[in-house]
Amino acid sequence: MIDKPFVYKSAGHPYTPFEFAFRELVQRYEYFLRHRGAAIGQSLIGLIVQDNNDTMARRLTGMMRRFHAEGTRWTHIDHIIETPLFVDSHLTSMVQMADLCGYATRRFFENSERDLFDRIYPRFDRTNHGVVGIRHYTAAGCACKVCRDHA
Ligand SMILES: [Zn+2]
Repeated sequence: MIDKPFVYKSAGHPYTPFEFAFRELVQRYEYFLRHRGAAIGQSLIGLIVQDNNDTMARRLTGMMRRFHAEGTRWTHIDHIIETPLFVDSHLTSMVQMADLCGYATRRFFENSERDLFDRIYPRFDRTNHGVVGIRHYTAAGCACKVCRDHA
């Protein structure tokens, strides 16, 4: 979750919040596939499925091609194949599930609603050091459970 007023209070951000979040998601998914594959002794390969949006489809496809060619700031992308697959979310239950998780996360951070979020929170990826499958980008010292549990 990005605290936009905090993160974007200074100028000079080359990415929109959506592009920033997409880059973070790609990196996190790459790490998940790498680490989970190592844990089970298999090379895991993943595909990103994205709700279709003509404007964002072009931008995300371009970003993903660049990540495959150059890597992101922190890692090469070796375990995510292709560019995102854009689908009609009304026909794709997994995209609807992702929307529900996004809704629950947003309601937790913006409205302190815990019911849905507490049901999905145990499913976020973790290492021995803490939760890594979700991150709260905000001021240092935040006391929310995500920041407290962050690796
Ligand atoms: Zn926090």
